[in-house]
Amino acid sequence: MAAGSETRTSLIGLNPDQLAKAAIEAGGKAFAGKQLAQWLYGRRVADVAAMTNLPLEMRRKLADNFCAMTSQVIATQQSGEGTTKLGIRLNDGLVIECVLMREHSRQDATGTWDRFTICVSTQAGCAMGCRFCASGKLGLKRHLTPGEILEQFFHVAALLAAEAAPGEQPKWLTNVVVMGMGEPLHNFDNLMSALETLNAPWGFRFGARRVTVSTVGLPDRISELANQGYQFNLAVSLHATTDEQRTRLIPTNKATGLKAIIDAAAYYYKTSRREVTFEYTLVGEENDSPGDAHRLAALLFGFPGGNVNLIPMNPVEGSGLKEPSVQAVQEFTDILRQAGVNVHVRRKRGRRVQAACGQLRLQLEGGLG
Ligand code: SAH
Repeated sequence: MAAGSETRTSLIGLNPDQLAKAAIEAGGKAFAGKQLAQWLYGRRVADVAAMTNLPLEMRRKLADNFCAMTSQVIATQQSGEGTTKLGIRLNDGLVIECVLMREHSRQDATGTWDRFTICVSTQAGCAMGCRFCASGKLGLKRHLTPGEILEQFFHVAALLAAEAAPGEQPKWLTNVVVMGMGEPLHNFDNLMSALETLNAPWGFRFGARRVTVSTVGLPDRISELANQGYQFNLAVSLHATTDEQRTRLIPTNKATGLKAIIDAAAYYYKTSRREVTFEYTLVGEENDSPGDAHRLAALLFGFPGGNVNLIPMNPVEGSGLKEPSVQAVQEFTDILRQAGVNVHVRRKRGRRVQAACGQLRLQLEGGLG
């Protein structure tokens, strides 16, 4: 199928009211909306032809207006460490990416994966322009629809289903991180719609506490997310300890500033009682000095429920930025630990599959248009 030739939309992303409307328009009864939700989100079947408890005539009419999925996987990159990255082409030809990470939660002698995390994209491109990030390079192309955000789950479900041994129930996701391409809180309404479907009893029934939303730090939107009353985890991409330094790496910081971001994160914790993780991408000789580590510890001193995730930068061509040295990462970590900060260093698991935000897409499609 050539890009853009599919004019139908998918049922994926519709809520029960919208599904009931689609069912009625196809000559069915409103309660068929519940059956559609059950097929889509309960069983992850998107092709109406396979929804065998619906009347044939209704299925035919639905298929006139709705295809199974609007996006398709055009590239799959494996990594020996359990990571698979999918390049996904949207109906209009834009390419996004989605990552499946398989891990074992404990040292497991049998080596079976028991933790499956999807990293989803929320935009094609990104408007934030972080200097170390591949997604920001070409700017924002457009927001993803709720359906396009959720279709990524269906592509990963197909991947997991293909891996199941004969007669065995396929594995399903245990964790969701909204850390792929784009700034999730910039596409707030569509993100909320997708997350509601993920969490709702009529939807995927996926526990909010297993979902993490990562943001560059849009203070008003962080507060708005807090006010939604969900139990999602929040990750805030801090990356710097002074406004001058942060604005150098993240242009949007000029308008927001560190203080407002940390205040919003504190409000998020106070309101939801969910942990907040501060992400800190270590960039060689930019923000990785012992002084930076001390300032970070001071900045987060007394922040309740706070953790730091250190991410040594994945090199991005043309960024002019370099990776931190092994020694700098170690020293930075030690200083934070000694200051009593709960700190994790993110393993470079996706390195071989270009796992940093937007890197596979850049490779697949040097330009987006
Ligand atoms: N826009 C959101 C989510 C997408 S990026 C955000 O900013 O949080 C997910 C995380 O990967 C962010 O912390 C981001 O700063 C980081 N990241 C992006 N490019 C990277 C790179 N080349 N190396 C290391 N981390 C990177």
